[in-house]
Amino acid sequence: MQADIVVLPGDGIGPEIVSATVPVLEAVARRFGHQFRFAEHDIGGIAIDRHGEPLPAATLEAARKADAILLGAVGGPKWSDPNATVRPEQGLLAIRKALGLFANLRPVRPHPAALGASPIKSELLAGVDIVVVRELTGGIYFGDKTRSDADATDLCRYTVAEIERVVRVAAELARQRRGHLTSVDKANVLETSRLWRDVATRVVRDEFPDVALEHQLVDSMAMHLLSKPRAYDVIVTENMFGDILTDEASMLAGSLGLLASASLGAARVGIYEPIHGSAPDIAGQGVANPYATILSAAMMLRHSLGLETEAAAVEAAVHGALDAKVFTADLAAQGAAVDTARAAAAVIERLA
Ligand code: ATP
Ligand code: MG
Repeated sequence: MQADIVVLPGDGIGPEIVSATVPVLEAVARRFGHQFRFAEHDIGGIAIDRHGEPLPAATLEAARKADAILLGAVGGPKWSDPNATVRPEQGLLAIRKALGLFANLRPVRPHPAALGASPIKSELLAGVDIVVVRELTGGIYFGDKTRSDADATDLCRYTVAEIERVVRVAAELARQRRGHLTSVDKANVLETSRLWRDVATRVVRDEFPDVALEHQLVDSMAMHLLSKPRAYDVIVTENMFGDILTDEASMLAGSLGLLASASLGAARVGIYEPIHGSAPDIAGQGVANPYATILSAAMMLRHSLGLETEAAAVEAAVHGALDAKVFTADLAAQGAAVDTARAAAAVIERLA
């Protein structure tokens, strides 16, 4: 197949992890006979420096025409002056919104080699394989806000259509995996959660009869995610609960440098990026862990390009590199670390 992939390296370690990942996609194209065309554009701090805005029009235009978008990370101390009117992170929010990306997927599958890096007991983690699907464009984060001297309010609102579309993404994913979907809400207290529960129940009953749906209250979910993480397959939840639960879930996997994400909408195009930030403390040294970005590229192959075999091959190559203890500094015991380029090369060797 032919695909146009927009590459947005961004700031900090972003350019390093992205330039380690593009050759992996090129290796996939060679091995499986595809043609991927890459076009690089600015976003975040570098875009502020070069164009005066975190999401230049040329970047958005290219993104709109692309089949998929690979992103590094944005932000850094240079642009974090509290008085600044433009911030790198605004570029990310703006592009997600412009492309209508409403579902954020974060797989959590701790690799045996990285189990020791998690604060959770290894016996609880073996075999954990979860995808959290977080609603990204609604809820209390986007509701009207008021502030007076005496009080403040944040409105939490969800429409039926907003709930339906994210539940469909999650249920479809559950269908392709182990057929189990957990919908998380606070239906004992919140009206938006009662609507969420009703809509999730109806959508799964009518459109995904083969998927087993379970409802969980967010407080008990927070507990069960740590006490019995193996019990979950796909978890779907609203924006704020998802924000909190995805950070909690990331601790199951140990290193930030292994966690990928996808932001999806109604169209095929999605943004694929590691969940970690721009890591200014190690930027420019060539030592960042590229695996999270490479695993994000695997999600791109799966979700935007429909190339499941290729996606699985990339994941297997990363797992092979981890099995062979090809570790960057964040994973390695002292002295045994390889650099970014070497880690990426270990993946490419396994794809050849
Ligand atoms: P942001 O606000 O952009 O999300 P953050 O403050 O959450 O950033 P990160 O940039 O994610 O922080 O970095 C947190 C820590 O993890 C830093 O010490 C960083 O060096 C380390 N880190 C993050 N990503 C990687 C990576 N790919 N490889 C190695 N270390 C990493
Ligand atoms: Mg962060």
